[in-house]
Amino acid sequence: MTSTPIPFSEPQSRRSRTVAIRWGDHSVQLGGAHPVVVQSMTNTDTADAVATAIQVKELAQAGSELVRITVNTPEAARAVPHIREQLDRMGIAVPLIGDFHFNGHRLLQEFPDCAQALSKYRINPGNVGKGDKHDKQFSQMVEAAMRFNKVIRIGVNWGSLDQELLARLMDDNAKRSSPWDVRQVMYEAVVQSALESAQLAQRLGLPAEQMVLSCKMSSVQDLVAVYRALAARTDLALHLGLTEAGMGTKGTVASTAALSLLLQDGIGDTIRVSLTPQPGQSRTQEVVIATEILQALGLRHFVPSVTACPGCGRTTSTTFQELAQSIEAHLRDQMPIWRKQYPGVENLKVAVMGCIVNGPGESKMADIGISLPGTGEAPAAPVFIDGVKVHTLRGEHIAQEFQHIVADYVAKRFSVTQN
Ligand code: SF4
Repeated sequence: MTSTPIPFSEPQSRRSRTVAIRWGDHSVQLGGAHPVVVQSMTNTDTADAVATAIQVKELAQAGSELVRITVNTPEAARAVPHIREQLDRMGIAVPLIGDFHFNGHRLLQEFPDCAQALSKYRINPGNVGKGDKHDKQFSQMVEAAMRFNKVIRIGVNWGSLDQELLARLMDDNAKRSSPWDVRQVMYEAVVQSALESAQLAQRLGLPAEQMVLSCKMSSVQDLVAVYRALAARTDLALHLGLTEAGMGTKGTVASTAALSLLLQDGIGDTIRVSLTPQPGQSRTQEVVIATEILQALGLRHFVPSVTACPGCGRTTSTTFQELAQSIEAHLRDQMPIWRKQYPGVENLKVAVMGCIVNGPGESKMADIGISLPGTGEAPAAPVFIDGVKVHTLRGEHIAQEFQHIVADYVAKRFSVTQN
């Protein structure tokens, strides 16, 4: 038997440049020693200022700390200051990011109120113009960022890669005595597109602290390969996301796998889960998943965690599943109020367990836990608080009674003491 303690598993840290993304007095800091920031993107028509402001508000309230909106037409650019005004009136300070492709250089020049209302500009080097227009139009966008003192994200995307750069690297590869795999040449093109654009922006005078890079890919292994190379070659802050991740379970699992591998390596200062919503599903789902990924890795805490067992042949009724679901939903619903009222409540650990096998043990390890009766057990549910059994619930209203017990515990433990 070895006597050496098993080392803890924890995410590594990569110290990148700190970037502050500001709106008014509100500032979102990313990079450096700051926690990983969650962002999301609207899918409303930006020209519809009311619908867009409402969705930005929903995303912000779900936990999105930055929200990106498409700015693709003069109508959209004209709507941006109105979206900002509506958010300010609603008390939503979340910084807005403008997503520009093809005509961003013109829109930022022709609509200065839009350029001012945004806190960050996303520039895709693959979509800023071809030939001699490429550098000129890219430079115009960087100059707008310097004029309005905004952050930029140089956002390369596998699906809109700079074809001229790719062609150049393919030609170079053909001259190698041992040519690289075509996929590796594409990786190199993605990484070089981001780094060369960043160098150009810095030559134009934009400080590294006003720059974020991303290289989004649509397959997990491609994303991991590219970001590992990118992180090794730059200390600029990195935005992380699997592009076109897809829908439902597939999109959720692929994003979680990709982001988790990189975040564990310390790579990624801000993340987005690019999930295609199921018909009728709220856009906020992508924010919920992003926050859950960070919480599961122990990088951040957004909502109290609920430990629930999967259930098995020892639980033949649905009571246990319903209770686990209702407690989790209840905790999430309370968070907009609790977050303000009870600082630190997001660290709360709740256990909802199906029977006596693991129920008391898990419940004792949580801050507050309930062990429901399995098949054949006495119809009683012991409740444990801080490791001690303090109640036994019976009857038809176990769920409501347990919610009250949780609410009382939260109020007692997390209330700010008034002097
Ligand atoms: S705690 Fe009980 S009900 Fe839950 S999975 Fe384990 S044995 Fe099954």
